[in-house]
Amino acid sequence: MPDFDIDAQDWGLETLGVRAGQTRSQEGEHSEAIFPTSSFVFGSAAEAAARFSGEVPGNVYSRFTNPTVRMFEQRIAALEGGERAVGTASGMAAILSTCMALLEAGDHIVASRNIFGSTTNLFEKYLKKFGLNISYVNLGDLDGWAEAATEKTKLYFLETPSNPVCELGDITKIADIAHSKGAKLVVDNCFCTPALQRPLQLGADIVIHSATKYLDGQGRCVGGVVVGNNEDMEQIFGFVRTCGPSLSPFNAWVFLKGLETLNLRMKAQSENALALAQWLEQQPQVEKVNYSGLLSHPDHELAKQQQEAFGAVLSIEVRGGKEGAWTVVDNTQMLSITANLGDVKTTITHPATTTHARITQDDRDAAGVTDGLLRIAVGLETLDDLKADLARGLAKI
Ligand SMILES: *Cc1c(COP(=O)(O)O)cnc(C)c1O
Repeated sequence: MPDFDIDAQDWGLETLGVRAGQTRSQEGEHSEAIFPTSSFVFGSAAEAAARFSGEVPGNVYSRFTNPTVRMFEQRIAALEGGERAVGTASGMAAILSTCMALLEAGDHIVASRNIFGSTTNLFEKYLKKFGLNISYVNLGDLDGWAEAATEKTKLYFLETPSNPVCELGDITKIADIAHSKGAKLVVDNCFCTPALQRPLQLGADIVIHSATKYLDGQGRCVGGVVVGNNEDMEQIFGFVRTCGPSLSPFNAWVFLKGLETLNLRMKAQSENALALAQWLEQQPQVEKVNYSGLLSHPDHELAKQQQEAFGAVLSIEVRGGKEGAWTVVDNTQMLSITANLGDVKTTITHPATTTHARITQDDRDAAGVTDGLLRIAVGLETLDDLKADLARGLAKI
């Protein structure tokens, strides 16, 4: 049985974002309630026994399940079009839980090269320690995806668009390759969210989110979620409930509020990003703009096919290398200098000395992270104010 109201399956994304998965307590509250409780009480010894055995469904302990967390899980499952979701303490916990639940020593992962830095660290520093092997391929290299598989390959893992240079991977084609190798495709859908891209509909098996980013949308809480079919989610839920990277009810409640405006925010932020990217292309100090909404972007057609809009993250290469880039950062007044993204407040970061500082120069080159590269995660401010702030910085190069 799907994990959300059966009638809700026909709802549009906007309706799902506002209403899917909501349950009400006996108080009849209109807005989702927060249940800040670690455990739940039973009417009798017999009821306690039945709940513990699972014979009677219901909450026992919030490391396992919690009503607020469950509402968030049902809503995001509905938005992604998956059977079930499992909330986790962070995006990294979502990735870790997926790997721990679905893989065993000796198994092999094929991942896209430019994945989130902590994901690479998780793979290289921890999963390898437990006998898992990982190969990396370029997101757009379909032959590479096929050739990288071994008979031990269980998971394909990718992020699209990539961070920070906004390359795209063709989810449908890579899912076909993964399936032909007997593996599942996991997509980290953090940058697009289901408002712009629904990987399960495109053939992926599992979707992962850092809810910290656009699902929250206002930069307040850390959390994550995995979405997929009942069978896989049961395994991942088993890991989370036993090992403990569970989502807090307060954070789930904040994410529920975020999901109510997700569709509006993603559209509005994408519009802002597109207009800003077009303006940046005209600025003499900007040598290159990476944004799939631009006709100049090599994956523009694929972006139109697989996404509803082009997303809110772009990057630019400015004149003058690191010095030029730092000059822009230091002369903007409004943009937040932070590596976070997914916020309604626009953020700017210099990847080469922050998010990508700890990798080797060769790896930075392979990732397209040049010294002059700046990543901008566009928020909801007035477009003219964003332009004015960046113009201030660019003028000083
Ligand atoms: C932030 C991020 C993560 C990790 O999420 P946390 O909530 O910080 O643990 C994973 N993938 C991508 C693409 C991210 O941007």
